[in-house]
Amino acid sequence: MSEAIKSAEILCVGTELLLGDIVNTNAAFLSQKLAELGICVYRHTAVGDNPARLKAALERALSEVDMVITSGGLGPTYDDLTKETVAEYFGREMYMDEHSLCRIESYFKRTGRVMTDNNRKQAMMPRGAVIFDNDYGTAPSLAIVGGEDNSKTVIMLPGPPGEIIPIFNEKVLPYLHERRKSVIVSKNIHIFGMGESAVESVIGDIMRSAENPTVAPYCKEGEVRLRVTAMAKDESDASDLCDRMIARIKDTPVGEYIYGVDIDSLERATVEYLRRNSLTLATAESCTGGLISKRITDVSGASEVFLGGCVTYANEAKIRLLGVKPETLSAYGAVSEETAREMAKGVREALGSDIGVSVTGIAGPSGGTPEKPVGTVYIGVSTASGESVRRLSLSAMRSREYIRIVSASNALDMVMRAEIK
Ligand code: ATP
Ligand code: MG
Repeated sequence: MSEAIKSAEILCVGTELLLGDIVNTNAAFLSQKLAELGICVYRHTAVGDNPARLKAALERALSEVDMVITSGGLGPTYDDLTKETVAEYFGREMYMDEHSLCRIESYFKRTGRVMTDNNRKQAMMPRGAVIFDNDYGTAPSLAIVGGEDNSKTVIMLPGPPGEIIPIFNEKVLPYLHERRKSVIVSKNIHIFGMGESAVESVIGDIMRSAENPTVAPYCKEGEVRLRVTAMAKDESDASDLCDRMIARIKDTPVGEYIYGVDIDSLERATVEYLRRNSLTLATAESCTGGLISKRITDVSGASEVFLGGCVTYANEAKIRLLGVKPETLSAYGAVSEETAREMAKGVREALGSDIGVSVTGIAGPSGGTPEKPVGTVYIGVSTASGESVRRLSLSAMRSREYIRIVSASNALDMVMRAEIK
C-alpha cells in the first residue's frame, strides 16, 4: 500500500486570531505551500487556546483529511497546549527530549536571556514524534504519524511568522518530500486461544514502545489480531521491518497461539494445515448445528481435506449415527466429556478420516443447569493416537450466536493441535 498525503487541514491555534487582534497570515502561507506540493487543503480552522475545542477540531479534521498542520500553541506558557492535546489524541505519552532541551538552553545563552522552568516544557515531546529543530526561536516543531494504519499525520509549527516560514521551508518541505517517497506496509498476526488482555500482558511493552513498525490490537469473537504497520522507503524494506517485528512477537509466549499471518480466517488456516499434512477431517456437531462444516466448506479447496459431518442434535442421532453408547448418555449426559469423546471417535470411524472433531454444549439462553451452565461446551478430537477433550466455560451473558461461533473456532483450533501418529 503506498501512502500519499492527499488532503490537509490548516488548524491555527490562538485566541488572538478569534479576537481579530491578528490576521491569519500563517494559514495563507501554509495553503500556498501545500498547493505547490499538490496537497489539497480542505479547510482553514482557527481555535482559541482551549484544549477541549482544539481536540474536537483535531478529531473532526482527522476524520476528513490525511494531514493537519497546526500553527501556534507551542510556546512555554500554560495556555500553549497544542503538543499535549495532539499527544493525547494519539495516545502518546510525553517525554523530555534531551536534544531539544540542550538546544533551548544554548539558545538562551546565545541570546543572553534567562531561561525559566516553563521553557523546559518546550522540550517535552510525544513519543514517536519527528522533531524539527527551531533555529529561529525556542519552540521545536514536530510531526506525529498515527491513527489506524498510520494514515494520519499532524505537523505542529510555532505561531510567529518569523519562525513558521523558515521552519516550514527548511525542515517541513524536505520531510514531506521524503514522506512522498515512502510506503506503508501492514501485516496482520492472527491469534486464537489467548484473549486481548493476556496478549497485552505479554507483549504490552513491545506494543507501547514500537514506533516503526507500530503494533495495534483488534479483537473479534474470541480472536485477537495484531496489526503490524511499517513505513520505509520501499515496499521490501517496510515488509522486512514487519517481518522482524512478527518474528519478535512469535518468540514470546504469544507465539504458540498464532495461527497465521495475513490469513483470512481460522477455517482457512485449518484447511491449509490439513492440506499441508495430507490429513482428512470429519465433524460431529451438536450445539454448533453444522457451523464447523459450514466454515470449513466456505474455504475453496476444502473438498481435498473435508470428508463430511453429522449434525447429531438428539441423543438418538448420536447413538445411531455416531455409535455413542446409550449408557454414556444416561450416565454423563449429552453435554459431557465422555459424549464428546465418543462423538469424535464415532465420526472418525464412520467416515474413515484421519481426524474427527465433535462439539456438544449448551448454547443457551435456556437449557443451563448449576453444574453445566449456559456456555458449557465440550470439544472432542479423535485421531489414531486417541481422543482429547477441551471444556469451554463461556460466559452465559454471551449470545447464543457468540457461543456457537467461539465453540466452532475452538474446534478448528483443536483440529490443528491434534496429535497425529
Ligand atoms: P510563542 O513561543 O511565541 O508563544 P506559539 O507557538 O505558542 O509561540 P502563539 O503564542 O500562538 O504561538 O503565537 C505567537 C505569536 O505569533 C502571536 O502573538 C502572533 O503574533 C503570531 N501568530 C500566531 N498565530 C498566527 C497566525 N495564524 N498568523 C499570523 N501570526 C500568528
Ligand atoms: Mg504562545
